[in-house]
Amino acid sequence: MLYCQSCDTDNDTSAHKCRECGCPYLIPYKSVLVRSDGKRVGIKSGFCWPAAIFGWMWTAYHRAWRLSLILAVTAFGLLALDHLFFSNTQNPLWSLLTIGAYASYMFICGKNGYALLEKDLQRVDYTALIKPQANVL
Ligand SMILES: [Zn+2]
Repeated sequence: MLYCQSCDTDNDTSAHKCRECGCPYLIPYKSVLVRSDGKRVGIKSGFCWPAAIFGWMWTAYHRAWRLSLILAVTAFGLLALDHLFFSNTQNPLWSLLTIGAYASYMFICGKNGYALLEKDLQRVDYTALIKPQANVL
């Protein structure tokens, strides 16, 4: 859908301006969540680069605390495992394993970033402003 930030209207994906208020600035969100105090978070679709690069910091920025904690524990856990078991070995294979594990972690964060954020925010104070539509961006 194409979301209009000025009037919260869900527009058709082919729209060039909002059908309700005529605003030309429409954003391709999958859904929009709104907090009880009115703060809005747009959920996009596709690969989430901020989640892949910043991981738990990105989810903390969005105040998805539970998800942030899970991601932070995973990230630091990977580093701790590497330090505990592989810091004394000279075998470069272990470094590759660590890099591989971390790359997988980043990929999983990016692939599922928006979906996880949406789910975690809805656990707390957020509700869907406009229901997500199937088969639409
Ligand atoms: Zn509008």
